[in-house]
Amino acid sequence: MEGALTARDKIGVQDFVLLDAYTSEAAFLDNLRKRFRENLIYTYIGTLLVSVNPYQELGIYTENQMGLYQGVNFFELPPHVYAIADNAYRLMCSELSNHFILISGESGAGKTEASKKILQYFAVTCPMTESLQIARDRLLLSNPVLEAFGNAKTLRNDNSSRFGKYMDIQFDFKGIPVGGHIISYLIEKSRVVHQNQGERNFHIFYQLLEGGEEELLACLGLERDARLYKYLSQGHCAKELSINDKSDWETVSSAFSVIDFTDEDLENLFGIIASVICPLTTDLSIYARDAMAKAVYGRTFTWLVNKINSSLVNKDFTRKTVIGLLDIYGFEVFDKNGFEQFCINYCNEKLQQLLIERTLQAEQAEYEAEGIEWEPIQYFNNKVICDLVEERHKGIISILDEECIRPGPATDLSFLEKLEEKVGKHAHFQTYVRCASLSPLSLCFYCELDEGRQSGSSVFHSVIHTPVAALHSFEVGTQFKNSLSSLLEILVSKEPSYIRCIKPNDGKEPSKFDYCLIKHQIKYLGLMEHLRVRRAGFRDSRWPGWSNARACFLSLPSPSRYKSLCPDTWPQWHGPPAEGVERLIKYIGYKPEEYKLGRTKIFIRFPRTLFATEDAFEF
Ligand code: ATP
Ligand code: MG
Repeated sequence: MEGALTARDKIGVQDFVLLDAYTSEAAFLDNLRKRFRENLIYTYIGTLLVSVNPYQELGIYTENQMGLYQGVNFFELPPHVYAIADNAYRLMCSELSNHFILISGESGAGKTEASKKILQYFAVTCPMTESLQIARDRLLLSNPVLEAFGNAKTLRNDNSSRFGKYMDIQFDFKGIPVGGHIISYLIEKSRVVHQNQGERNFHIFYQLLEGGEEELLACLGLERDARLYKYLSQGHCAKELSINDKSDWETVSSAFSVIDFTDEDLENLFGIIASVICPLTTDLSIYARDAMAKAVYGRTFTWLVNKINSSLVNKDFTRKTVIGLLDIYGFEVFDKNGFEQFCINYCNEKLQQLLIERTLQAEQAEYEAEGIEWEPIQYFNNKVICDLVEERHKGIISILDEECIRPGPATDLSFLEKLEEKVGKHAHFQTYVRCASLSPLSLCFYCELDEGRQSGSSVFHSVIHTPVAALHSFEVGTQFKNSLSSLLEILVSKEPSYIRCIKPNDGKEPSKFDYCLIKHQIKYLGLMEHLRVRRAGFRDSRWPGWSNARACFLSLPSPSRYKSLCPDTWPQWHGPPAEGVERLIKYIGYKPEEYKLGRTKIFIRFPRTLFATEDAFEF
């Protein structure tokens, strides 16, 4: 019918790689908007999943949906977080390899929800035995407990994770989830003593007051009204309509029993929690009180993670493969930023670096090594920013450490002078003096978005407004740097999958697509660069069966999958393998633009080409 919209006009394409005007940001945004309008929140860039927070329940996470994605080829069904989970799981089972799924995006973009959906997918779809159900339940229930102690309402997100979380889900050789291990990063302790207007302390405090039994509160000497406590009411929103503290308390307290907390553990735990909100003794200065409350909470959180880990250990299984889920805080820039924001943004730079190395760099290096003709794609390599922060003896963290241990008092000014001397000329470093009512000095480490540049993946604009606080954080910076490098070590030994979450608007509203906000995220998540490499490339590196593609075509002398499709290679090809592969490909009718022969591999541009071959083979 004339004028009728095609499906493509209406709902866009499900893989950005298939866009006609694929390198244009406008086309990218338009495709995302069309899909979002139709409640299609997921879109691929090859095997990377882009997810836009719908801010409404869409009914796409049912057990029926899970069943659809189970064991199905990645590109055969519409994009979904389940497809990512299933792909990693099947690769792990077939290749006995370890994987991780990195979920990134800014606060409120949907990272934690995505990681929970993945965990639920494994819990429902993986094989299970009766004796291992407890391991599965513990994995699932560790979430509400950690969220109660580590999440809080912020202006950006009513359930914002205030710590970074890496969770290994361990599977036995049959693919049954048997245990797990959690590593937490930098819990935002300052929240215990201070919350901005419109924000709350960690959920657990309100849950305890709202849901805790009368005897428990009496025993802890607590009143039910959170507004009576300064640490819980500075943000003036102790009661929050979107949060049901009472029912959350019930979930958390029943989770405790499953993850092996004894009555004594709970007594100690809530004794400590109650002591943080406790009446003040007059001889404690406010500073000492706050410092103590923060330290106590930080240690309690570490204890909690250790305790959960000991309940997730399963010593009966020695040969295990793992899928790691990384749900880490996204970039954040507030009006006032502390050392925590500096660490969070540094962490994001490191993870962006990992993605660059594993995708943009590695893939292009492979084409070069294989002798594939290739026009290199330009991208901004944020290593320069990571070095600025972490380089030994020269980076900001080292300078901070040195400043703290040298004789004589370290001040804002002495720290600033050192920075000026050592990194003052760095292209991504700036210091400036702010108005006197704030802290006298502000440091700014940045990588500006440059609209004129084709790349510009990273926007690191971390301002510490309180260098004095940074000085107090002596060693914390180094500690954080070390824990990040251990995390990176864990990740580089595994096969990656990526989920990039996008927040559609600042008002937590369903259906509102804020162009400006989304454009900014597309830029700093490096999605356009990723798309350009993907679009020009020949393969999706972790598509199941892909790594075996050449073996499938011809790998002499071992039997190869497709050689029976061509009379020249069947039953046996006696010439050079590359020539045999070429003969086979010509015979089955691949067009020149569909593939390239490398030195040791065949690169196929579209998965559908291989699907067709696979179908012919099975037929
Ligand atoms: P933070 O960095 O602050 O922890 P986040 O990226 O983890 O943020 P989430 O807590 O996952 O963000 O999501 C924020 C809120 O958005 C959720 O509480 C939920 O209301 C909504 N949301 C996120 N993802 C989905 C989804 N797939 N379907 C429906 N609602 C969602
Ligand atoms: Mg979160």
